[in-house]
Order: sequence, then structure tokens, then C-alpha cells
Amino acid sequence: MEALIGGKRISSESKISVRNPATMETVDTVPLLSREQVKEAIESAWTALDALNSLLIAKRSRLLLQVSQLIRENLQELAITMTRETGRPIKSSKGEIERTAQIFELASSEVRRVFEGKYIPLQEYEFPAGNERRMALITREPIGVVGAITPFNFPAASFAHKVAPSLAVGNSVVFKPSSLTPLTQLKLGELVSRVFPPGAINVVTGDSSMIGDEFVTNPKVSVITFTGSASVGLGLASRAIREGKRVIMELGGSDAMIVLEDADLKRAVKSALLGRYDFAGQFCNATKRVIVRKEIEDKFSALLREEVSKLRIGDPLDENTDLSPLISGEARERMKLFLDDAVSKGGEIIYKGEVQERGNYFPPVILRLRPFSDLKVLKEEVFGPILPIVSVDSDDEAVDVANSTEYGLDASIFTKDFGRALRIASRLKVGTVVINDTTRLRWDNLPFGGTKKSGIGRESVLDTMLEMTETKLIVYSD
Ligand code: NAD
Repeated sequence: MEALIGGKRISSESKISVRNPATMETVDTVPLLSREQVKEAIESAWTALDALNSLLIAKRSRLLLQVSQLIRENLQELAITMTRETGRPIKSSKGEIERTAQIFELASSEVRRVFEGKYIPLQEYEFPAGNERRMALITREPIGVVGAITPFNFPAASFAHKVAPSLAVGNSVVFKPSSLTPLTQLKLGELVSRVFPPGAINVVTGDSSMIGDEFVTNPKVSVITFTGSASVGLGLASRAIREGKRVIMELGGSDAMIVLEDADLKRAVKSALLGRYDFAGQFCNATKRVIVRKEIEDKFSALLREEVSKLRIGDPLDENTDLSPLISGEARERMKLFLDDAVSKGGEIIYKGEVQERGNYFPPVILRLRPFSDLKVLKEEVFGPILPIVSVDSDDEAVDVANSTEYGLDASIFTKDFGRALRIASRLKVGTVVINDTTRLRWDNLPFGGTKKSGIGRESVLDTMLEMTETKLIVYSD
């Protein structure tokens, strides 16, 4: 596929191959753009700002609905593309494309709220002197060109999270997909460009650090919105802030699921299953650690083992497949290292499935560990189907274990005692706590984001629109 700059399809001699992680076959190629071409994309986004802002808010709102409709019309093709490049099970990909259409709808309806200004009765304030002759208004304005960078794991929704709010408020976008999974986003970019003025959306593919560097250093880019790993994101953020740019960072997680002794265990097991093994655990808010009260550890582990053993591992394009391959050979190697480290330090493998040799498959694994063990699986983000279980003696210990990582994205608590759940929730250093359900939930109309190394800022459609506008104070004196 070709890149998209200023409404035109752009190619290049050098290409990046996109592989299907289930079969290792090449699905397609995308251009390895030069720095000049990336600069051109930023230039066309800059030029498109006038056209975008000459559209009424009501008009932009209608255009977003048209994009949403186009996404639904192309749902099947988009879902297949996404499954072929990510390896994600097709039933899960279809859900994400539908959600993508909904995010554009949400931006269409929420945008009017962003531009509702405020009148301030300055005559009521004593300072500075002379306020009785002044009036103040607070308004919002689009911020300008948005540089967006996304990870491999949810190309459709992450595109919508960044592009829909930007266009809604009148910003143009230069979008950089993950080089592993650029195809869905190039198709989405093409759908958006059918509806919005040329240059409003540009999709550039190529060397990641070169594109990131151009976003950071080019004065025409006003905000960098990044979703991906903490190591890449925080490096970019610190450089962008030094250049005076705004940053929105949605980074990694090590979400804990706390299971108390009065929990509905079947429900907890079902949530762990979806939380850890859907898309082989490759979600930021996947359930990455289970912390269970000692009284029920054996019962919980036995139930979980039974359910994990029923997961159907196979072709992601098959509607019946539950467990898919990892994105790359490196990702599979990382899982092997996590497992070796855990076993060498006394961790016990209580379940390990079997997978085919072809493709980047890694078996589902359940580990039993001691809390606070110095193991990589408890300290780092595990982006794969390994689920560590640690048992604790008290709620205090559960909170301490949950908080003992550098991340703070989501957590979940399973108990029938709502008061106890709320007390624990208030002590967890995370952005979202879900009670009696999986950490994997996310609502696009509600704030999503994390504490510590899980991110900077919050992403709901409305929060993002607010982040992507400048507040302006206008004071009139007569
Ligand atoms: P990654 O950090 O390796 O890559 C993310 C993006 O950054 C990709 O587009 C990549 O090409 C680009 N990139 C890499 N190096 C760069 C550089 N030097 N400059 C600019 N861009 C660069 O992450 P990944 O492996 O694609 O995705 C998995 C990570 O994303 C996990 O840590 C996961 O938790 C996180 N994630 C977070 C959220 C969230 O909302 N918090 C959602 C999904 C994924």
C-alpha cells in the first residue's frame, strides 16, 4: 500500500514488508519514506488547517459521521486486513472495527461541548483595579498540527482515538503507524481523506526514530500524541517538552487482578481468561498479574487451569480461534526469557499449553510465584500469554503487591463486599479500577490513562479534544 500525503498516494523505492505473524507470509509492503517526504506531510497538514477551520463545527461533525458510515461499510475488509497484519483473532478484530466507527460518532456528538465558551463577571473581582470596566471571555481554539504515533496492537481504535478528536476540533494530523501493522491505518486514512479536505489526514510510514525526530523538532507540529511502550514514549515526551510541544502519552501497564476470598470465582476466572489470553495478552490493559487470597488460591488456580486448557489455538482468521500468535519472533523470544527467569528463581509452572511450530505462537502459561519475588514477570510489562499468580494473606498485602510496579494503568478487584472493594480501590495507584470485571474494559467516553510510567494525560474522546485545543482568555476593557 502507499502512504498518504496531502490527499495523494505516495510511494518510494525502498519498502517495508508487512508479515502475517501466523504464517510469516508477506501480506503487503509500505513505503520507507525519506525525511523530506515526512516534512512534506507536515507541510500539507499545516496548509490544510485553513480549509479545516473554515468548516463550521456542525459540518465537521457531519463529516465525522460520514467517516463512521464508511468504516461500517468496509468493516469486513478492514477486520481481515487487521487480522492478517496483527494476527489478532478475527472475532476480536471485527469488534474493534465497530468500536472505531463508534469513536468517530462520539467525536461527532461531543465536539459541540468543546467550544462552549465562558463569560466571567470580572466586575465581581476586586483585583486588579479597574475591573468594573472589563469583561472576560474564555474560548478554545484548535492547537494546529497533531503528530500521532501508535503501537501495533490495536491499529483501528488507536487511529480513531487520535484522528477523530483532532479533526473534530479543527486540527490536522500526520499519523505514523507501527511499521509492523500499518495496513489497517493506511486504509482508514484513505477513508478519512475521501471526506475531509486534502492534507487534513496524512499517513506516513518509514523509519520510526526518523519520523519521531521530525515530529519533535519540526516547529509546525504542536502536539505529539503517542501510544506505545514507556521506554519509547517517555524518551519522545522529554524531547518534545523541551521543544515546547504538548504531549499525550498512553504507555504500558502491568495490571493486577485482586481476587478476595468471597469472590465469585467463575466470574473471576472468566475475566482472567479474557484479560490475559485474548490476542495472546497483547493489550496495554491486559491482566498481567493475579493476586489471590491464600484461602482460595488452590480452587482459583484449578478452575483457571481447566478453562485455559480449553482455549482454541489456531488460525486467527478462523472465527473459533481464541489464542493467536505474538506479533514477532522477538516478542516470542522475550516470553521465553520471562519464563526462564521465573523458573530459575523458583517460580512453578502450573500450566503450559502446546502450540504449532509455524508462526509466532507461544503457549498459554500459568505460573505460581511468591509475592515480591525479584522476577521479571512481576516487575516488567509482560506482553504475552503468561499469567503469574501470587497469593497473599491480607488486603493490605494485596494492595502492596499490586502497587509494586513502575506502571499504574488499570486494576480489578473481585469481591461481593462493595465497601471493601472501594477501600482497596482508593489505595491502588492506577488510572482505572474495575470491580468484578476484567481490566480489559475501556469506555471511549470516559477518561483512560495511567499513573507513574503508564502515561501522561487521559484519553477519552472529550479529554483528547480538550488536550488538543488551546484555552484563550479574552478581556475587553471600555
Ligand atoms: P513501541 O513503543 O515499540 O512502538 C510504538 C510506536 O512507536 C510504533 O509506531 C513504533 O514504530 C514507534 N517507535 C518506535 N521507536 C520510536 C522512536 N524512536 N521514535 C518514534 N517512534 C518510535 O510499542 P509496541 O510494541 O508497538 O506496542 C506495545 C506497547 O504499547 C506496550 O507497552 C503497551 O502497553 C503499549 N500500549 C499502550 C496503550 C495505552 O493506551 N496505554 C495501548 C496500547 C498499547
